[in-house]
Amino acid sequence: MGGKWGYMGLRGTWVCISEHGFQGCSIRDGQQLGMACATSACCLSGGGDCERRTIAAEGGGGPSQCSKCDANEAVTGSSCLQCFRSALYAKFRQAVTSHATILPTDNLLLAFSGGSASRVALQFVHEMQQKAQRNSDASRDRSYPVFGLGVAFVDESAAFPIPSTQIDQAIQDMSSILSNLASPVKNLHVIPIENICHSKSMDGRNRLRELLHNITDITGKEDFIRHLRLLCLQKTASENGYNKLILGSCASTISRLVIAATVKGQGYSLPADIQYVDARWEIPVMLPLRDCLGQELSMLCLLDSLKTLDVFNGGSSGVNGLVSSFITLLREENPARECTIVRTAEKLIPFHFNKLLETDDSDDFMTSRWHRKRMNLRPGESIASEILCVICSSPLNKSEVETLRHKVHCCTSMSERCELTCCRSCQFQILPKEPSSVEQFYSLLPQCIITQMKNHSYGDLDLLREQIEDCLLSDCDDDS
Ligand SMILES: [Zn+2]
Ligand SMILES: [Zn+2]
Repeated sequence: MGGKWGYMGLRGTWVCISEHGFQGCSIRDGQQLGMACATSACCLSGGGDCERRTIAAEGGGGPSQCSKCDANEAVTGSSCLQCFRSALYAKFRQAVTSHATILPTDNLLLAFSGGSASRVALQFVHEMQQKAQRNSDASRDRSYPVFGLGVAFVDESAAFPIPSTQIDQAIQDMSSILSNLASPVKNLHVIPIENICHSKSMDGRNRLRELLHNITDITGKEDFIRHLRLLCLQKTASENGYNKLILGSCASTISRLVIAATVKGQGYSLPADIQYVDARWEIPVMLPLRDCLGQELSMLCLLDSLKTLDVFNGGSSGVNGLVSSFITLLREENPARECTIVRTAEKLIPFHFNKLLETDDSDDFMTSRWHRKRMNLRPGESIASEILCVICSSPLNKSEVETLRHKVHCCTSMSERCELTCCRSCQFQILPKEPSSVEQFYSLLPQCIITQMKNHSYGDLDLLREQIEDCLLSDCDDDS
């Protein structure tokens, strides 16, 4: 089986349009490009050569029949809409089933920005839910549970000012998108990002503005907002009884993340952010569209008339903006590059929290909660404990942990502790340089970050254990 190339008329670029769903597809006459395969299907299976062909561009006598089913007219390069669609859905489905990311007893919260990736994620999860509902309705003797689905939109207008009428319109559009989807009903949660900063003494919007004002680095500011967005989603999921969070991050988003993390010196923690599952949070995060390209998803929205919104899409700035233009350039040169980047980063060893505890049989209704219980784990607690940065939640590397252990007991103020418990990247990009500003920055941080900072033992326990090692009873002493 191989990946194929299709000509996407949108911007006149070549993109990979077929993967898992294209088994047994017939390759017609065409020029073999002879490049190494970089489509994720081949990448994932470690496969070798890909058969490729070029298709004449629009009006150049391109094929009129779909190369897979040979029945319908090709609308995207060599595929008909149906085959293109099922190939994309197959990638989503493969990610979901092979990592048990959606179980019948789950209650999922889907982060919805209105962009094409989250729109497709919503559509696919909805279709899966409908199928589960049909199966449940069909079963007489035993009622199968159907997973729940809610949708969350983070209103970031406090951080990126846009007219309130635009936000209102977007929320209206989202509600109509959701009400147009068949039952089961999906709740829409609109979360103003400043909610996470709200405190008794100060209103969230002002507090967030002051907090952001303290971050002078433009990249740091953007990354910090991204982290706050995730905290908002976590909080909403937790308060409303959702047990998993679905993000629409696709291969294109992830390739940007990989290069940006490399540039920012976040190589150690990078593998944590690019897996299908990220269970370091109280509510585990899933990326079921990880193998789909951004262009494929936009194309599907266009062909399927899925309404997308463009609310907070002012583009990135700083390092993130540069990386974004760099990737666009690479893609124009060779559309497979995004997949190649993701595939390369995939070789890094993931962390222990990058998987859900395995179930013996995904068909029975065992939940991850049940497994946690069996392993005596509390929600949010991973099997192996990584020390996480209090600001961005990246795992700290060995030298950061060493510094923390040596200095944490000499900390006199919380702001000092704040500095020590951050990863180097946050220290450099986000924390203010002046000690007095750090104090102010610390006082403005969201309560959930401060609580985490106070409650975390940060290796204190290990240090204590080392100091009193000789006085501790060993296991054999205990037996006797
Ligand atoms: Zn077809
Ligand atoms: Zn950090």
